[in-house]
Amino acid sequence: MSKRVIIIGGGPAGLSAANGLSDLAAKGAVEVVILDKKDHADLVIGQPRALVNPAFADEALLPFDRVLHGPQKPRVIVVAAVTGLHDGAVSFTRHDGRSETLPADAIVVATGSSHRGRFMKNSDGLPKQAWLQRLSEWRTAAGNAKHVLVVGGGVSGVEIAGEFATEHPSCKVTIVNSGPHLCGAGKAMHESVMSGLRSLPGKVEVITGDKVQAEEALALSPRTFTTNAGTAIAGVDMVVCAAGIFPNTSFIHRTRLDPKGFIVVDSTLQAPALTSHNCPVFAIGDVAHCGWGRLRNAQDMGKACVKNLKNLIAGKPLGKVYDTEGGKNWPIFASLGRQQGSASAPIVNKWLARKVKAPSLMVGIAWPKMFGVKDFKLSAAAMGPSPLLPSSKAPLKSRPGVAPSSWVYPGVAHGPGHCGPHGSPHQVVYAPQAPALIAS
Ligand SMILES: Cc1cc2nc3c(=O)[nH]c(=O)nc-3n(C[C@H](O)[C@H](O)[C@H](O)COP(=O)(O)OP(=O)(O)OC[C@H]3O[C@@H](n4cnc5c(N)ncnc54)[C@H](O)[C@@H]3O)c2cc1C
Repeated sequence: MSKRVIIIGGGPAGLSAANGLSDLAAKGAVEVVILDKKDHADLVIGQPRALVNPAFADEALLPFDRVLHGPQKPRVIVVAAVTGLHDGAVSFTRHDGRSETLPADAIVVATGSSHRGRFMKNSDGLPKQAWLQRLSEWRTAAGNAKHVLVVGGGVSGVEIAGEFATEHPSCKVTIVNSGPHLCGAGKAMHESVMSGLRSLPGKVEVITGDKVQAEEALALSPRTFTTNAGTAIAGVDMVVCAAGIFPNTSFIHRTRLDPKGFIVVDSTLQAPALTSHNCPVFAIGDVAHCGWGRLRNAQDMGKACVKNLKNLIAGKPLGKVYDTEGGKNWPIFASLGRQQGSASAPIVNKWLARKVKAPSLMVGIAWPKMFGVKDFKLSAAAMGPSPLLPSSKAPLKSRPGVAPSSWVYPGVAHGPGHCGPHGSPHQVVYAPQAPALIAS
């Protein structure tokens, strides 16, 4: 009889686990059910680019059907909320208010993490079109901003600043980071990122070892924020919160979690505080205490978990499948706009950051190469300069006769010191190095 595996969360970790079982599902040995709050699959690492480029935002999100493999694909249930984990069952509610409890032979928790900021990932589980609409509101605000304050100088904060300083160079960006080093990966990476930021078309100021109290805001009357150490940051009209990450474990009693709310797993990837004799409970990816917030770890844990799910299905004992201390020190890659990048390891990694990560924030590579999505290719609009400004909705194309050092956005005037659209004149030129472009 086939066993049922319920995977809660269809992000990179959950997808890896689900796809690893596709051979057994095809033989009818296992039924895989994915519960997710969203109606689409998302790699999340592309989010800084999705914030500035609508074509990229759209193309990076895929229907589950496209990222799940095999002739017997998992059933995906879009849930409003998971309401409880029981001994051998999961309870959830659907969007129409119905509650259900689904029995399981094994449960895999892969619910990832959320950010305090509303735009860092789709933690509310909005359907794709509603999420794209939310991103478009962000872009509208960003297109009008003159000084953006980014709270948090981890990889995501740095990458968002890099996108701004590339696509919207007349808008100043200030990053405030509580730690001494951007990206949290030591002095050498920090200095490399600083040098990369300085080389971008726009101006990025960096304050480290300090904190600022600022709530996320799309449009403010310009105001001054003062850091804890007394540095004034004046004229801020938009605040981006890129700090404050927490695991998505609200449906699990806190006494079964570590002090920060993560699920503690052992080397079998089971969570001893959740697992029972009848039904093992595994945790993988960001939600586990050893996910370290990294895509690669999420995928590795998903694959490793499959080994024990297969043991379970075969009636064999579960074994050690994962080094919970490993994966901590993988090099960190940060893109700085579409052409620059930095990494926490020597030359080849820096080269990879520029050549491999920056062009599509890895999304163009990760979907086909890491997740086996066939025929995935980002369009030229998604890979190219980002029409960040709200009025330039038309696709961009080359225009002969325009100086090759210009980008031209019709209907939008831009010049030094001005970031918002204001009718005519109809062309504004900025950003050297880029090819000649005009909207059709
Ligand atoms: C802006 C940004 C940039 C990043 N850049 C990098 C990078 O450059 N390199 C890198 O290695 N990592 C990066 N990361 C981290 C990387 O994206 C994560 O490590 C990875 O996505 C973790 O995968 P996951 O499947 O564990 O969790 P998630 O990607 O968070 O997926 C969790 C899934 O569970 C669903 N879910 C959540 N709660 C529930 C619930 N209660 N019920 C049902 N479903 C639920 C969600 O909808 C989602 O589909 C970045 C993250 C962000 C936010």
